[in-house]
Amino acid sequence: MSPRVILLPGDGIGPEIIPAAVAVLKAVGPELQWELEEHLFGGASIDAHGTALTDETLQACRAADAILLGAVGGPRWDTTDPAKPRPEQGLLALRKGLGLFANLRPVKPLSALYDASPLKRELIERTDLLVVRELTGGIYFGEKTRTRDSASDTCLYTRAEIERIARVAFGAARSRVTSVDKANVLETSRLWREVVREVHGSEFPHIELEHLLVDNAAMRLIAAPRHFEVILTENMFGDILSDEAAMLTGSIGMLPSASLSGEGPGVFEPVHGSAPDIAGTGAANPLAMLLSAAMMLRHGLAMEAQAAAVESAVDQALAEGLRTPDLGGSASTAEATQAVLGHL
Ligand code: NAD
Repeated sequence: MSPRVILLPGDGIGPEIIPAAVAVLKAVGPELQWELEEHLFGGASIDAHGTALTDETLQACRAADAILLGAVGGPRWDTTDPAKPRPEQGLLALRKGLGLFANLRPVKPLSALYDASPLKRELIERTDLLVVRELTGGIYFGEKTRTRDSASDTCLYTRAEIERIARVAFGAARSRVTSVDKANVLETSRLWREVVREVHGSEFPHIELEHLLVDNAAMRLIAAPRHFEVILTENMFGDILSDEAAMLTGSIGMLPSASLSGEGPGVFEPVHGSAPDIAGTGAANPLAMLLSAAMMLRHGLAMEAQAAAVESAVDQALAEGLRTPDLGGSASTAEATQAVLGHL
């Protein structure tokens, strides 16, 4: 088998952590003929080509089995001039160009890091949840209006959009899906609830379904995170709740994510940004990148055993005391990578 993976290191610490993922992929599947092809993306692509995502790179991504992305952005490309290209435009163009409508963010505090969380250990112990966020609809993409004294953002969802994201969430669940909405006030939420119920009843009756209002969900996520297994929600609620859930783990350097489309390749990337403040120091924590590679193995390449092996190697390295500076230690990116490779 020769999995074709496009590497988009991007900017800042991106090019420092992508090699860690490549080393782990090669170690976990030495028998595979990995076809890895690197492309400029984000600020690096703006410098070379004047745009954050070239047509050629998008075509290469479309033809691949999966895409592994570092991070984009940095002060060098910060601009308020709407005519100038910005690195994040690459992320939006990639999502759109690949039809990525489902964003998956697992939140599983690792036992070795319980004390790094701002929450009490008893609260977060054994938390293992997945936020499934709809990525292409809702208020972020609805029609916008603006006059000097008023402004509006339209929140629009179609039945088909809700059905496909609901299927992703139920498909990822072992026993329970919590659908989060604001059905007491929003019409889109009432449609959301109706469609989620239908998909549940006709296709996934063996999974338990509960509905929570978003304000209640925000409270329970902090008060009783173990309650949740899969959280299914629309774009804006998912944006906010996934960042809230991220805090359970203590460090942003630990969180992976996947963005999936119906049939084409998915994009796998850490939740954190390009960390320009530590770029070039060799201090970046590569673990979110490695856990993103594990998500790619699982969701993008159907290699569950290899995905589990990477996750377990990260767990073991941390249990043995591996700590990068963001976790209060002094291990470099290279040392952290070696520590994980040692357990594969
Ligand atoms: P950031 O996530 O880059 O950094 C926030 C803080 O966390 C910094 O102190 C940084 O050093 C630290 N940090 C982040 N990742 C780390 C890691 N792997 N190891 C150790 N420490 C880590 O967020 P920011 O500072 O708000 O944004 C910096 C740039 O990244 C901006 O240009 C922003 O637009 C961009 N950004 C990109 C993405 C993406 O590519 N998906 C996401 C968020 C932010």
